[in-house]
Amino acid sequence: LTSAKAPLRLRLDGAALAANWRWCESRGAGAECGAAVKADGYGLGATEVVRRLAEAGCRTFYVATWAEAEALGDATVGLSFAVLHGVGRDDVSATLASSARPVLNTLAQVARWREIGGGRPCDVMVDTGINRLGVAPTEIGAGIAEGLNVDTLMSHLACGESAGGMNERQRKALEALRGSTSAKRLSLANSAGICLGPAFAFDLTRPGLALYGGVPRAEAEGAIRQVVRVEARVVQRRRIEAGESVGYGATFTAEEATELAILNIGYADGYLHGFSGKGRALVGGKEAPVVGRVSMDLTAIRANAVPELAEGDWVELQYDLPRAAAVSGLSQYELLTTLGQRFERIRD
Ligand SMILES: *Cc1c(COP(=O)(O)O)cnc(C)c1O
Repeated sequence: LTSAKAPLRLRLDGAALAANWRWCESRGAGAECGAAVKADGYGLGATEVVRRLAEAGCRTFYVATWAEAEALGDATVGLSFAVLHGVGRDDVSATLASSARPVLNTLAQVARWREIGGGRPCDVMVDTGINRLGVAPTEIGAGIAEGLNVDTLMSHLACGESAGGMNERQRKALEALRGSTSAKRLSLANSAGICLGPAFAFDLTRPGLALYGGVPRAEAEGAIRQVVRVEARVVQRRRIEAGESVGYGATFTAEEATELAILNIGYADGYLHGFSGKGRALVGGKEAPVVGRVSMDLTAIRANAVPELAEGDWVELQYDLPRAAAVSGLSQYELLTTLGQRFERIRD
């Protein structure tokens, strides 16, 4: 029990989350639209994300591990969950205690599920070129999934975010497996795949990034809304004279008298070094640039343009994902999943 308040705020815009899911769904030309909520809903809090998406009409969810499924507790009731890492050697008891189904990725997992699954449904991942997880198309052809109760036969795109022949090759490889298993449905598209058009949607899509405000491809620009807002507080305001420097390594030196505000956020919170000298705080419609290096728990901004900003005030950090990614050199995925433990997660 603690009386100390969380020092940082992470605002989750539930309406934007739901709108982004509906956009993904509308792009699927009648395909069902699921949601990837692994890594605690990409860092935003899986329980709340599942609740909001279920309200919007989402029924099928993907987590990476059985621990993630278990952590959702009652939030999974009435919904369909699949565990992307499948049923490993140490997962047997967790699998049997869960209502989620495994995504079987290897021949060993298929054999294990035959032994323990008792005819319960599973998904099967077939690797059509990413060479990450999944059985080979030839193995499906050879009948390794025969007799399994397969809900979804799925594959995953390697280069959905770019052009080139690989997307189409992977699409055809999955299409060629239609009817080769008992699968009720086929699934290929993540967020980027959804942008590639209805031919990639098959029966069920699995967006993650785009739900949370990420823009994987130009097709989603202007359609996807910002979901996450990051807020920090001013711990100290100070003024430095021309020639003085700021922070570790003295990487910023003032050319003139400069007003600073020191914020209580740093790389330990996921506001990583990529924002050093590049990030922006937003204060009442004005921008205040980050100066010097981001520290573990502190970040300095130039506050000349915001004389009203005082110790204890809250400021928003520019965290619109496509822009923040361009500025920081981090991926939109990393910007979400590295956000730390010091945030109060607020649902608007
Ligand atoms: C994470 C993941 C997704 C979602 O991908 P995004 O790029 O975030 O849309 C879909 N399918 C699989 C198998 C995944 O691992």
